[in-house]
Amino acid sequence: MSTRFLHPFTSTTRTDFVDGVRGEGALVWDADGRDYVDAMSALWFANLGYGRREVVEAISDQAGRLHTYHCFDPFTNGPADDLADRIAGLAPVDDPRVFFTGSGSEAVDTAIKLARAAHHRAGRPHRQLVVSRSSGYHGTNLGGTSAQGLPLNQAGWGDLAPHFVSVPGDDVEAMSVLFAERGEQIAAVISEPVQGAGGVIPPVEGYWPALRRLCDDHGALLIADEVICGFGRLGSWFGVERFGVRPDLITFAKAVTSGYVPLGGVVVGASVRGPLEAEPDHLLRTGYTYSGHATACAAAMACIDVTESESLLARADELGERLRAGLATSVDDGLFAGLRGTGFLWALETHDDQVPAVVRDRALEGGVIVRPLPGAVAFCPPLVTTDEQLDRVVDTVATAARR
Ligand code: PLP
Repeated sequence: MSTRFLHPFTSTTRTDFVDGVRGEGALVWDADGRDYVDAMSALWFANLGYGRREVVEAISDQAGRLHTYHCFDPFTNGPADDLADRIAGLAPVDDPRVFFTGSGSEAVDTAIKLARAAHHRAGRPHRQLVVSRSSGYHGTNLGGTSAQGLPLNQAGWGDLAPHFVSVPGDDVEAMSVLFAERGEQIAAVISEPVQGAGGVIPPVEGYWPALRRLCDDHGALLIADEVICGFGRLGSWFGVERFGVRPDLITFAKAVTSGYVPLGGVVVGASVRGPLEAEPDHLLRTGYTYSGHATACAAAMACIDVTESESLLARADELGERLRAGLATSVDDGLFAGLRGTGFLWALETHDDQVPAVVRDRALEGGVIVRPLPGAVAFCPPLVTTDEQLDRVVDTVATAARR
């Protein structure tokens, strides 16, 4: 294994890695030929699982004709146009347009910029503050790092961006107090529908409607960071649908292409578009070389097709219930301290004397991939996992906790 590859979110001195070489459905194989049920969809993205011919063919077909053409003025390409129309039709956002990025982090930074720009162009340049929640994860670009509610990820990089504030994650009252004190300065609130990397933490009852009300009452924009929840994880195209709220902006990435090729984006609602489009010929001075990458957009179209044709949103609900019930048994047996989650996104809470990374390592030995989080072990399997594979996940993790 190369010692030249500086791995992301990995100890800088680690030298032993699991080397994935092949995948099929919810299974992946390592270089030694061992198979694992991937109960994490890699890093919360492989919703359609591995080896999907439809997606591979869409990629190959597009890459063979014109792998991409850029979308800066005056160019466009068909797959980007088609995907924008398709996502605009699925997203719970008023009269949206879709901006493409290459990753979730780029989507988050772009959403923050667009929220501020909308206020700026509407004559409210004093609205710059971005409010996030503790335990929120919003990627690792400078905006997303500044917005995170995970202090360990924020420390040691020098000064972060100004005008960001974090409030306790599940506390509507704290959010109300902040709005009462600084409502005139707030550009946007950013929140994951269910917090993912920070611990798989569902919102308390009524949290999202309360956020929407506060934003409406005080003239702030609401950004749903759907990088994990979007494209089926909670049994709906977007996670906020589960909580009955229409945000102004949605960030997405990961499962939009199931990770076959990188793609992210921002769904930009009417409240943001309005000021940005008000002045004829206003040039939107932000974007990425690969905004609207044709091959990535073609892959996303294929992924949405498969999700529809195989009714995977409904399947996510069925699988989520099966997983919840199985993991609840482990809690009832005293193997774990608790269980939290919703849809097909769950976490077992570890006991004080349990180390999540040790549970992960033992589960790996048993052929199941889970992810250790602070005080918890996360489960986010592909929506194509079979019942038997899911039962193997539950049994293997129970065995890992028993030893
Ligand atoms: N936002 C959320 C909610 C995420 O979970 C992530 C990644 O896990 C990101 C943003 C950043 O996405 P990326 O790693 O593609 O930059």
